Amino acid sequence: MPKICLDPGHAGGNIDPGSINSETGLQESTVNLAIASLVKEYLIAVGYQVLMTRTREEQVETDSLKYRCELANNWGADLVVSLHCNSATSEQANGTEIYTTLGETDGDRLATYIINQVTASFSDLELRADWDDGDPDKEENFYILRYTDAPAVLLEMAFISNPEEAAKLADSAWQRDMARAVARGISDYFV
Ligand SMILES: [Zn+2]
Repeated sequence: MPKICLDPGHAGGNIDPGSINSETGLQESTVNLAIASLVKEYLIAVGYQVLMTRTREEQVETDSLKYRCELANNWGADLVVSLHCNSATSEQANGTEIYTTLGETDGDRLATYIINQVTASFSDLELRADWDDGDPDKEENFYILRYTDAPAVLLEMAFISNPEEAAKLADSAWQRDMARAVARGISDYFV
């Protein structure tokens, strides 16, 4: 069965919590790990092999993106899926978006499958898309996308800086729905 590398963004806790909601103190690294762990459950249940680049709340070696990429590459991952929460100065900023590297790769196909499942599961989650090249992903040479050998995507699930979306990101039922959508998108890639 395919080997899926899940990458919960940021090292966690005092090392690098990622973005933080200024009202509730909710940390991005906590949400990323919780949802990635649920994606892992779903994928294992249908027979996939899964490797997490971070498995604990605060894990110092994961502060290195080079470490994470080498982990995925040495394992021989077939896909890499990085999970993050978005943040903006304006509390109004909202929605979901997914990134691949520049140009057309299998990562674009994976991104489309995942974002289709996410938008199908959450009608209230606005899609922030870049349709310039005919598909919904945005393109940036983020390190985790650029230096992993396998097709890779980075999903910014929702805005932790937006009060309503932060409440959803903290909600265990919402986390489970998001994880299920991501897992379904990954499965769609192999159909
Ligand atoms: Zn992040």
